Amino acid sequence: MPQQYMSAPVNGGLQNHLAEPLRVGVLGFGGLGQAACRVLAPKREMRWVAAADQKGYAYNPDGLNADACITAYQSQGTLGYLDGEGTLSSDSIRELIGQARQVDGYFLALPNLPNTFMASVAEEFIRSGWQGVLVDAIKRTSAVEQILALSEALKAAGITYLTGCGATPGLLTAAAALAAQSYSEVHRVKITFGVGIANWEAYRATIREDIAHLPGYTVEQARAMSDAEVEALLDQTNGLLTLENMEHADDIMLELAGICDRDRVMVGGVVDTRNPKKPLSTNVQITGRTFEGKISTHTFTLGDETSMAANVCGPAFGYLKAGIALHRRGVYGVLTAAEVMPQFVR
Ligand code: NAD
Repeated sequence: MPQQYMSAPVNGGLQNHLAEPLRVGVLGFGGLGQAACRVLAPKREMRWVAAADQKGYAYNPDGLNADACITAYQSQGTLGYLDGEGTLSSDSIRELIGQARQVDGYFLALPNLPNTFMASVAEEFIRSGWQGVLVDAIKRTSAVEQILALSEALKAAGITYLTGCGATPGLLTAAAALAAQSYSEVHRVKITFGVGIANWEAYRATIREDIAHLPGYTVEQARAMSDAEVEALLDQTNGLLTLENMEHADDIMLELAGICDRDRVMVGGVVDTRNPKKPLSTNVQITGRTFEGKISTHTFTLGDETSMAANVCGPAFGYLKAGIALHRRGVYGVLTAAEVMPQFVR
């Protein structure tokens, strides 16, 4: 093997660059955004420097304090009130990315309400002239399609965008891509998730977006529901949301990765909004035929003790680290969680 190749590992040798921690931002500071800063707090390879919510933002290139930010957000409703580091704004994302030039990448923990919102945020980044890595955890196939349509524009802007990098799509889609390697043909990918949260208010966007998957509801209807209407719906179901045959981007991501046609991918699950215990174990089953003609099923099951937040934020930052390695090698444009291996953040 030529010496040159041996000294340039395919992961881009990111470790060699990590004398300085990567500077990362989190857009959206609700359930997932707050969990994200807790996940980052003990990490040496990433420093959390920027965050935005709907009414303000906070930035400190030397690092933000998770406890102080969560206290400000929960007691005063926005990071904008954070002493010395916060700014109130009704256009927080645009202002933050205009001001915080020294950010290597962002995790977009934003609601995708309306269904075009995340694509509009990507366009805002393109307009800003900022270059770096964006990671989202969006869920709908039609939302990922909008991001894919921006690939050339993102490439031209010098942005590496990893889409569908939460739990599902994300961790489970990547597990399916890995498991598929045993087969000559993949017949079916079946994702079943169980989510338990103590109260729905901690994850308002997640719950509204899940309601939008129920029969008889659209994204616009779910977005327009008042908190009282969401509560009334949850009262009728004893706090449970049962979802079947969801429009979930795991399908287009696995199709694009060449693993199987999208109609072979099925996603459903149960969300309990009144109990942190999972109503069922989240798993993905990958059924296929081996080269010998045997039909078999691999199953990857998440530990019941792992929360939705752990299974979304961990992969999101793993993909952010992988994305930064790709960005440093000049790989720009859109990639999905099914085509890139996340890198563990230390
Ligand atoms: P949330 O409702 O708890 O919080 C949303 C946050 O975004 C709030 O801080 C709000 O102030 C902020 N925000 C809203 N509009 C904004 C704007 N215009 N500018 C700046 N900030 C704005 O949301 P959540 O429950 O944490 O969910 C976030 C997203 O994560 C949802 O889209 C959800 O579907 C997705 N999600 C994905 C997965 C997965 O596995 N892929 C799992 C769970 C949630």
